[in-house]
Amino acid sequence: MYPASFEYASPTSLDQALADLDRFGDDGKVLAGGQSLIPLMKLRLAAPTGLVDINRVGELSDELSQDGGALRIGARVRHKTCERSSLLKGRFATLGDTARQVSDPIVRNSGTVCGSISHADPQGDWGSALTAMNASVVIRSSGGERTLPMSEFLRGPFMTALEANEIVTEVRVPDPGPRAGGTYLKLERKIGDFATVGVAVHVALDNGSVGRAGIALTGVGGTNVRAQAAEQALVGSDGGENAIREAARLAAEAANPRDDHRGSADYKRNVVRVYTERGLRRAIDQARSAQEGA
Ligand SMILES: Cc1cc2nc3c(=O)[nH]c(=O)nc-3n(C[C@H](O)[C@H](O)[C@H](O)COP(=O)(O)OP(=O)(O)OC[C@H]3O[C@@H](n4cnc5c(N)ncnc54)[C@H](O)[C@@H]3O)c2cc1C
Repeated sequence: MYPASFEYASPTSLDQALADLDRFGDDGKVLAGGQSLIPLMKLRLAAPTGLVDINRVGELSDELSQDGGALRIGARVRHKTCERSSLLKGRFATLGDTARQVSDPIVRNSGTVCGSISHADPQGDWGSALTAMNASVVIRSSGGERTLPMSEFLRGPFMTALEANEIVTEVRVPDPGPRAGGTYLKLERKIGDFATVGVAVHVALDNGSVGRAGIALTGVGGTNVRAQAAEQALVGSDGGENAIREAARLAAEAANPRDDHRGSADYKRNVVRVYTERGLRRAIDQARSAQEGA
């Protein structure tokens, strides 16, 4: 099927893009990689009357950059850029491991990180990775700028805090410190599929004990689920086997999966537990190695 007709704007400045969004009002949409929006339009599940293509807006970066120890992910950064970046190893390995597991190379070539979180698919991988990394989202409209933590940005299935006239300009990931590690483990039925279950973990050590922990889950709730009780159980612990097992138990408790064609709710909850254990072991090992190497 062809999409319903729409007006197409391809601005070259952020001010113009925001003015175009104001002009289109509630029926306008930002177009980034088009990997979620275009299929929806072809199926007529979305029928925006105006599209604002941000791909020629130079102020919206297509590169990852470091800001002190923190990381900035611009609005035009593709999954592929993250997959290949040497920045997303070690302390930021949660993000690098996520990037290479998003769909297939065709989707990764075009799709963007900011587009993924704006789409807010509960099975989107980036929502969990960025929640575990304690990231925040920078949002612009013609009225100004605001910044929201991931937990406030993601509101529910395909729902965010974004207004129709707003653009996500970048995601900021705070400095995890030198002794940190993480990963993203994803169970998929076949390569390129959405997650049956995904678990993002991130750990930062402070004097040998766990100073910060981030754990977030994909595919087991109406949006990416932050496993807060599990995080709290780890912080201050020695990161040993008992602490890991308890955190994994609490992460499984935080999951709210449903029976579907990908598996039963019980099965998915058990995968959350097992993947949280595995992920935390790997993350803590990485963080300890960084400590020894420091
Ligand atoms: C076959 C297939 C398999 C996939 N598998 C996976 C998978 O395994 N895991 C996964 O996480 N994702 C998967 N995806 C989705 C993919 O990651 C998309 O790239 C992503 O969801 C949307 O990014 P995009 O840049 O393509 O956004 P678009 O499709 O251009 O936009 C998506 C939505 O976000 C809005 N938007 C985009 N950018 C901005 C912005 N900067 N500011 C405000 N609003 C914005 C748009 O208006 C639209 O509502 C898959 C997609 C396909 C087609």
